[in-house]
Amino acid sequence: MAAMSAHHVHRADLCVVGLGPTGRAVAHRAMRAGFDVVAVDPRPERLWPPTFSCWVDELPQWLPHSAIAQRIEAPTVWTRSQHRIERPYCVLSKPGLREVLALDDATVLAQRATAVGAHRVELQDGGTVTATTVVDTRGLAAPGSRRTASAHGIFVDAEVAAPMVGDGEGLLLDWRDENGAGPGEPPSFLYAVPLGDGTVIFEETSLGLRGGMPQHELRRRTLNRLAAHGIRLRGDEPAEAAHYPLDQPPPPVRAGLRAADPIRFGSRGGMMHPCTGYSVADSLALVDTLIEALRTGTDPVRALWPWQARLVYWMRTRGLYGLGRLTTAQSISMFEAFFTASPRQQRALLSDHDDYAALGAVLFMTVSRTWPFRWRYDLVGWTNRNRWVDYDYQAAIASGQVDRLFP
Ligand SMILES: Cc1cc2nc3c(=O)[nH]c(=O)nc-3n(C[C@H](O)[C@H](O)[C@H](O)COP(=O)(O)OP(=O)(O)OC[C@H]3O[C@@H](n4cnc5c(N)ncnc54)[C@H](O)[C@@H]3O)c2cc1C
Repeated sequence: MAAMSAHHVHRADLCVVGLGPTGRAVAHRAMRAGFDVVAVDPRPERLWPPTFSCWVDELPQWLPHSAIAQRIEAPTVWTRSQHRIERPYCVLSKPGLREVLALDDATVLAQRATAVGAHRVELQDGGTVTATTVVDTRGLAAPGSRRTASAHGIFVDAEVAAPMVGDGEGLLLDWRDENGAGPGEPPSFLYAVPLGDGTVIFEETSLGLRGGMPQHELRRRTLNRLAAHGIRLRGDEPAEAAHYPLDQPPPPVRAGLRAADPIRFGSRGGMMHPCTGYSVADSLALVDTLIEALRTGTDPVRALWPWQARLVYWMRTRGLYGLGRLTTAQSISMFEAFFTASPRQQRALLSDHDDYAALGAVLFMTVSRTWPFRWRYDLVGWTNRNRWVDYDYQAAIASGQVDRLFP
C-alpha cells in the first residue's frame, strides 16, 4: 500500500473510487486477478461505522469465515406468532473483513475524488488518476425525501440483554406490540442480534417511509421495547444511526463499456436491496462477475444486470412502495403471510439477484393472503398511497398522542 503526493498523474488498469466494503472488495479481487489497481478514499484506514449482517449463504465462496464475527443458526421473526427461520444468519467482523480484503499490492490514495469519469478521476489535491476502467463505489448520498431506511441501534452488554436475546439467538424482525407506537403512527420493528464481542445491538428500524423516521422517535421505541422485557439501560451505552435511501436504481443498460460514466457498483450501483436495506453480501457476491467481465472485455453492466435481475429489482421496488404506506397491523399481516412462503420464495425476495419467477410468486401470494381483503388495496397502492407522507412526529408528541415513557 502506498500513499502518493499531490499533482501526481497515476495510471492504472482499474481505479476504484470509494473504499466501503464494496469498493474494497472490488479493489482486492481485481488486484488478486492481476489488475493494476489504484483505490481512492478520503479515509482508507477507517473501520466502517455500520454493523453489517447478512445470511451466511449469501457470502461468496472466496470469502474466508474469519470475516464472520457471530453466527446465528436460526434467527427469530415475530409477526402475529413466532417464526424460527432455519437459515443461518451472521454479523460480519469489520476488522476480519478488512483483513481478508487486503490491498497490499494496490496503490491507495487517501484522497477525495472531485470528478469521476469513465477513464479519469480528479482528486482534491489536484492529482489525477487515468484508468482503463473506473468503478464508482462512493455509496449513497443523504436520502432527503426519498424512501428511506432509518434505524437507531443501542449496544447493550450481553448479560443485560439476556432476557430478550440469549447467546447465539437473534431477533431479525420483532413486530410485537411493545414499542409504544399507536395504530395511527408509522410502523417500525426491532432488530436485535449479538455482535460476537460481548454486546447485543437493539435497533428499532423503519423501512420505506419517505424521508425516514427521526432518531429520537426510533430511540424512544427501542427503549420502550427493552422496558417491556424489564431491561433498563444506563443511558450512556454507545449507539449507531442509520438513515439512507432504499431506491437507488441499477445503472441504465447504456451505462456499460462505451459510456461516458464510470461503472457504478455496490449500494451506488443498484445493489441496495429496496425492501431490506442490505447491500453488502450481494455486492460481495457480484464482485467476481464484474471482474470477469473486465477481464474478458464484455460489458460489465450487462453482466451484472441481465433482464432477470432488472425485473427482480423492479418487483422489489413494488414491495418497497408497499412497505412505506402500511400501518403496523397491515405490516404484521403482510410479514405473517411472507414468512409462511417456501424457503425458495423467501430467498427470492430476501436474497437472490435474479430469481424473478419465485419472487413474482411470493409477491402475489403475500398480497393474496393478506386479510382483511381491503388491506390488499393499500398493499398495491390503490388506497392510502401517501399515508405517512409529511407525518409530524413532533406534533404527535406535543398532542400527547404518543406515550413519552423515555424522552
Ligand atoms: C447503522 C447501519 C446499519 C446497517 N446494517 C447493514 C446490514 O446489516 N447489512 C447490510 O448489507 N447493510 C447494512 N447497512 C447498509 C450499509 O451500510 C451499506 O449497504 C454499505 O455500507 C454499502 O457499501 P458501499 O461500499 O456500497 O458504500 P459505503 O459503505 O457507503 O462506502 C462508500 C465509501 O466511499 C467513500 N467516498 C464517498 N465519497 C467519496 C469521494 N468523493 N471520493 C472518494 N471516496 C469517497 C466513503 O468514504 C466510503 O468509504 C447499514 C447501514 C447503517 C448506517
